[in-house]
Amino acid sequence: MNRSSFLKLIILQVAAMKAGNALTKLHDELTVQDMVMPALFVGHGSPMNGIENNEFSTAWERMGVAIPKPAAILVVSAHWLTRGTQITAMEKPRTIHDFGGFPRELFEVQYPAGGSPRMASKVREMLQGTNAGLDHEWGLDHGAWTILRRMYPAADIPVMQLSIDYYQPAEYHYNIGKQLAGLRKKGVLVLSSGNMIHNLGLIDFANIDKPDYGYDWAREMHLLLKEKIIAGDHRSLIDYEKLNKSVKLAIPTPDHYYPLLYTLGMQQKNEEPVFFNDKLFAGSLNMTSVIISC
Ligand code: ZN
Repeated sequence: MNRSSFLKLIILQVAAMKAGNALTKLHDELTVQDMVMPALFVGHGSPMNGIENNEFSTAWERMGVAIPKPAAILVVSAHWLTRGTQITAMEKPRTIHDFGGFPRELFEVQYPAGGSPRMASKVREMLQGTNAGLDHEWGLDHGAWTILRRMYPAADIPVMQLSIDYYQPAEYHYNIGKQLAGLRKKGVLVLSSGNMIHNLGLIDFANIDKPDYGYDWAREMHLLLKEKIIAGDHRSLIDYEKLNKSVKLAIPTPDHYYPLLYTLGMQQKNEEPVFFNDKLFAGSLNMTSVIISC
């Protein structure tokens, strides 16, 4: 899908929403000119976004109907950190409730999408030189299902997860994104899920409902990261620790930042990023998400 057709979809979609048409109907009517899936990085934020209707979760719903329906989905989640790269390869991945202190309603959510052992093997073949393994234990963690249940509520698309080898440097993650870029031509949506800016220890709970609210250092970092993404300056984003002094506050640990590098690694020369959910949150996070297509 090229950039102009993507933007057309968004415009059509907004028009349809205004007219009160069902989004699913619009989706069915759209002809997919070519099946090159966009590369998608989504800021997932609080697990509550999986069940709350707010500006972030409704944007996920809109995204689910605005892009071509994928044949399969590969999620790179900030919440699956391993030694060595793993790909889930079970027929029926379980829904993992990997959090605490949230309402029972959130723990009761199930996302019953199937897996794809066949596709998982193909993904592993694409990752030559990484000793990637097939996993039969994990499933879908909240970095995956909170977004997917809003984008694809029917849960009728096979989903795999790709783990983040937390013992590898930033460049490794970017290069895996490069190696996986070919999946986009096979109709596979690679969905990277994290948060560009993510400091849970400094969340300002008193201002959690204040819209687009970030500390000065978070706002500075928010603008700088976007500037680098727009410029295609991937080198600086791989070497993120050298960006400025605020980076230690904005990215105290790289678990939620690394997924962005997978998405950037998949970017082709003729493609541009488009931001959505481009907001700061609770002082020390941002929800900024990016879709890359030509
Ligand atoms: Zn998270």
